[in-house]
Amino acid sequence: MGLSALMTTTVAAGRLLLNAVLPPQCLACSTVVDTPGHLCGTCFGRFTFITPPHCGICGLPLDQTVTEDLICGACVAERPSYGRARAAFIYDDHSRPLVLKLKHGDRTDMAAHLAKWLARAGAEVIEAADVIAPVPLHRWRLLMRAYNQSALLARALGRLTGKAVVANALTRTKATVSQGGLSRTERRRNVAKAFAVHRAAAIDGKRVLLIDDVLTSGATANACALALIHAGAKSVDVLALARVPNPAGAA
Ligand SMILES: [Zn+2]
Ligand SMILES: [Zn+2]
Repeated sequence: MGLSALMTTTVAAGRLLLNAVLPPQCLACSTVVDTPGHLCGTCFGRFTFITPPHCGICGLPLDQTVTEDLICGACVAERPSYGRARAAFIYDDHSRPLVLKLKHGDRTDMAAHLAKWLARAGAEVIEAADVIAPVPLHRWRLLMRAYNQSALLARALGRLTGKAVVANALTRTKATVSQGGLSRTERRRNVAKAFAVHRAAAIDGKRVLLIDDVLTSGATANACALALIHAGAKSVDVLALARVPNPAGAA
């Protein structure tokens, strides 16, 4: 282990220890709460948890006047490579702080709590899965950040559900430019062929559940699903913590 990796691990361990002795904090705003792994009342009221009706494929929340799950326009126009995508809550100004905390390493202990949210939102896709695999970070980003937040979520979900986790099923073969500001088509092009299957034997013939932190356009999930299916996966579903409410509008 290099010195920087050792220091990062030590800092992370220190944080975990600190979090264990500090009073429980809201997962989003850090206000003190009664129970660990909860949101405070204010954040709970502001979060938009995703409930049916939603698109039967990509999980996009649909108009509340719809009585059952239908297929959204984007999925009718272009069917994704994955079967179904589900997410726990909408990614917006209120939920962003929680996602950033997980991403930037302030609170790696959050994953165990967030896995319960994933389990609730993704009950149907979890039940159908043989193995769980995270969306990988590029090696350089992994070095800078010391851990992959999607892998943390995948491992925590594996512990909670007893499903096998193949943490290194996929690798990123090229560093993609940031997806911000790109159109749907540009995002797809940006991530096409960016992923390779690292452990084909572990996913061959398996129904894979791919874990991501945030679904934006779905381009990353789509590229990962395509790589997994080419390598022999029987099917791929996606489960994310959060999703952008209107990917077409988000462009
Ligand atoms: Zn809060
Ligand atoms: Zn859809």
